[in-house]
Amino acid sequence: MQRITLFWFRRDLRLVDNHGLSQALQSGNPVLPIFIFDRNILDELEVKADARLQFIFDTLEQLNHELAAYGSGLKTYFGTPEEVFRELVKTYLIELVIANRDYEPYAIQRDKSIHALLSDHGILFKGYKDQVIMDRRDVMKADGEPYTVFTPYSRKWKELFRQEMIDPYPVIFSADKLVQMPRQTVMPLAALGFKPVHQEFPGKKVEEELIRDYQDTRNFPGIHGTSRISVHLRFGTISIRYLVGKAFAWSATYLNELIWREFYMMILYHFPHVVKNSFRPQYDHIPWLNREDEFDAWCQGRTGYPIVDAGMHELNETGFMHNRVRMITASFLTKHLLIDWRWGEAYFAQQLLDYELASNNGGWQWAAGSGVDAAPYFRIFNPALQTQKFDPHNSYLDQWVPGWQSPDYPVPIVDHKAARDRAIATFRNALNGLTE
Ligand SMILES: Cc1cc2nc3c(=O)[nH]c(=O)nc-3n(C[C@H](O)[C@H](O)[C@H](O)COP(=O)(O)OP(=O)(O)OC[C@H]3O[C@@H](n4cnc5c(N)ncnc54)[C@H](O)[C@@H]3O)c2cc1C
Repeated sequence: MQRITLFWFRRDLRLVDNHGLSQALQSGNPVLPIFIFDRNILDELEVKADARLQFIFDTLEQLNHELAAYGSGLKTYFGTPEEVFRELVKTYLIELVIANRDYEPYAIQRDKSIHALLSDHGILFKGYKDQVIMDRRDVMKADGEPYTVFTPYSRKWKELFRQEMIDPYPVIFSADKLVQMPRQTVMPLAALGFKPVHQEFPGKKVEEELIRDYQDTRNFPGIHGTSRISVHLRFGTISIRYLVGKAFAWSATYLNELIWREFYMMILYHFPHVVKNSFRPQYDHIPWLNREDEFDAWCQGRTGYPIVDAGMHELNETGFMHNRVRMITASFLTKHLLIDWRWGEAYFAQQLLDYELASNNGGWQWAAGSGVDAAPYFRIFNPALQTQKFDPHNSYLDQWVPGWQSPDYPVPIVDHKAARDRAIATFRNALNGLTE
């Protein structure tokens, strides 16, 4: 049997500038590209029609098609990674397994157990940095601790940055570098127990003019002022090195947002307790009201606050929500309604096409005041003022809640001033109670 190197695609679903794949192709063995539909993850999805799975499926078909040009293809499997690897080691003579690193607690645990399983068979498992420019302990404070405040983190990130870090990794194919196989078909969604979703996904083109104007346009949800690239970063259908290169050339503000992404990923890596708990432990003592009827009204966009409702409609109808409105809706849920940020986080996780644990958790804990570098609890967004400032011509409202000015529009679920006072008192009492 021929010795092979196995390349395991995860959230790096592209052939160009893929660090791990580039290494695999230089390993000297023919490379077998695989993807695992992970049962552990799919079992968690309650709705069995999921646009993200459709996005993955479409992307895998494209990869499979491109690999077929070299007489190879993408092998897809369904099961837990352990089950799949137990079969793979029986089927192939694997010398080396390569993947790109992932920093989420589940992924770290998964990789540890696959590492153990493979080493029992004398197989090496190597991970490479691909989805970020700086990972793990690359950006640390002088005392060796991780940063928990963004501005000094980003300063250090920029200090450490070198142009070579964004050089694309060569991914050079030829038939002899890939395991040859008959034409493959990607496992259909029906075999995974899912239905197809007919949806148009955002394109991958990064427009120079848009990024150059980003600083001035990014806060206005009613205009096309952000790059809409998040889903591609989420699944690795675009290279972060390519994007960072463009950001350096076109917009320092855009670069900062890409650094926020890495900052939250590394917060999750260094402080995995944030998945379930507040980064600041004292915030786990807030007596949330958690009214289910109010939560439902928020989810369905019927709070009577048009900017909040518009955001939730955008989310429910497209799987996307503008960043400014993510902040407003999250603040409204946690402050005006005093509903636990974990409820909102879970709802976003279910609905967002670009759902990504680190940024979603970071964004929610920021809004609740419980996270790293979060806004102080007494700074509470006023939905009306936010609308005046960031949707001055009401174009976002007109798009997503066209009836917002009609007499039938729901009345506000809470009074802004009363809710604001209640939130400040609740947070103050809970936080002070602990320090007394
Ligand atoms: C409550 C809340 C939840 C969020 N949940 C997610 C999530 O699940 N997945 C996700 O990718 N982003 C999340 N964000 C961050 C941000 O809203 C989205 O990344 C952004 O709206 C995506 O649109 P874009 O690609 O047009 O962004 P652009 O403004 O064009 O920014 C470019 C890229 O920079 C990164 N970025 C921008 N802003 C942030 C930010 N505040 N934090 C981290 N990275 C950022 C993203 O990768 C984004 O695609 C959340 C923010 C909040 C406040």
